[in-house]
Amino acid sequence: MRECLINPAGGYYINKDPFGKSGDFTTSPEISQMFGELVGIWILAEWMQQNKPASVRLIEFGPGRGTLMSDVLRSSKPFRQFNSAIKEVYFVEASPTLRASQHKLICGTNELVEDSTKGVFQSKALANGIPVFWVEDVKSLPENADGEFANYIIAHEFFDALPIYQFEKVATDPSATSKLPSERDASWREFLVDYCVPKPSELQSSILLPNQSIIKASEKSESLDTKPSFQLGLAPNWTIASRIIPKTHERYDKLPIGSKVEICPDAWEITEKMTSRIVPSSFSSPDAASGKGKGGILIVDYGPADTIPINSLRGIKDHKLVSPFEHPGECDLSTDVDFQALKIAALQHYGNDIEVYGPVEQGDWLHTMGIGARATMLANAQSTEEGKKRVEQAYNRLVERGGGAMGKLYKVMCIVPNNQPKPVGFGGDL
Ligand code: SAH
Repeated sequence: MRECLINPAGGYYINKDPFGKSGDFTTSPEISQMFGELVGIWILAEWMQQNKPASVRLIEFGPGRGTLMSDVLRSSKPFRQFNSAIKEVYFVEASPTLRASQHKLICGTNELVEDSTKGVFQSKALANGIPVFWVEDVKSLPENADGEFANYIIAHEFFDALPIYQFEKVATDPSATSKLPSERDASWREFLVDYCVPKPSELQSSILLPNQSIIKASEKSESLDTKPSFQLGLAPNWTIASRIIPKTHERYDKLPIGSKVEICPDAWEITEKMTSRIVPSSFSSPDAASGKGKGGILIVDYGPADTIPINSLRGIKDHKLVSPFEHPGECDLSTDVDFQALKIAALQHYGNDIEVYGPVEQGDWLHTMGIGARATMLANAQSTEEGKKRVEQAYNRLVERGGGAMGKLYKVMCIVPNNQPKPVGFGGDL
C-alpha cells in the first residue's frame, strides 16, 4: 500500500490529483464548502471552551487539494479574536503535486520556499499572511514541548490510506476447536501479496472485496489470464509481523481460531504522536507541564465504529471499486479505519490527560453542528433555482444515511484534553 500510494517514483498520490468528477473519487470537502465550515466551527468552539488560547496552530494530515483548510480559514475570519490567534498552519503531505495544489489555493502567488535541513516547505497564506508549513510525515511536525501552541489537528480521509497488515488466526494443534484457543493451540499467519500469472482455470476463482462482495474473476478484466498479476495468499508459516503485531494488544488474543484482522501500525503511531501535541504531560517546560491540555483532534473517515476491520482492502478507480491488485500505482487503495484502535492508541499513554468521543455518524455530526441552518442560508443566497438545487444535493449527499451513503458510512471521532466539557457535535453545547 505504501509503495503503491506514495512511492516517490510512481505512487498514486505523487504525480496526480485524483479528486472530483474527472478523477477517481470525490471527498466531502470537495462536495460542499459547508463541510469545511463546520469543521472550522468545531475548532472555534473547542478554542472557546479552552479559554481562547493566545496561539493557535492548525494542522491537517493528508489535505488533498487544501479545500478543507481553505474553508476552515475562511469561515474563521468573522471571528476576529480567533482569527488573529491563528499563528501557523501545518500540512502533513507526502505528495509534491498535491502540496503544489494546496499552496496555490491557500497562498496564491506567495513564494513556496524549501528549508531542506528541516524537511520543511514554507509560504504565507494569502488571506492574512500567516506562515504555512508543509512536512512530509509526522516525524517532522513540531513537538510543542514548551506548550506554546494550542494544536487543532484535522485528519479527513487520511487514515484509510495508511498501509495495513492482514492476519488470520489458525489452529496449530489440529484438535483445537474454534473456541477460545490457548497460546499453544493457535497462532497468527500473515496474508502476503503474491506475484502470480493466473492460468485460465483460475479465472473461476474469486477475489474478495469489501463487505464480502465477490467479484468473479470471469467478470473482470479480459487481460487477467495473460498479464502477470498479484493476489493475496496466507503465509504457510509464521512471519516476523505475524509473531509481533497481533501481540500488541489483548483484543486480538481473545479472538477464536479462523478470525481475520487488519492492523495498521502507522495509524497507531500517528494517533499517538497527534495526541502528544495536545497534552501537558508531553510538554517539557515545567510551566507548561503543570498547565492544562489544549487543542484537539478531529478524525473523519470510514470504518466500523467498534469492531476490528477485516478484508476491507479495496481499489478505487473512476469512482468504482476495483481489485486492489489490478492497477498498482494507478488506482487509489484504501481500507476501513479501525476507530477503536485509534482510541486505544490515544489512551494508552495519555489516558490521564484526554477524552475520546465518538465515532459518531457523519450525518448526525453535521446535523448537530448546524448543517441544516447553513444549507438553508446558502440556498437562500442563490439567485437561481439551479443554484438552490446544487446546495440541496450537496447537503443530501453529505448527510444521507441509506444504502451505504456518506452520512452513515463516514464517522467522526475526536480526541480532546479531559479538563473541559463535552465537545460540540458529541453531545456538548456551544
Ligand atoms: N483530506 C483530503 C484528501 C484525502 S486523500 C480530502 O478529503 O479531500 C489522502 C491524502 O493523504 C492525500 O493528500 C495524500 O497525498 C495524503 N497521503 C496519503 N498517504 C500519506 C502518507 N503516508 N503521508 C502523508 N500524506 C499521505
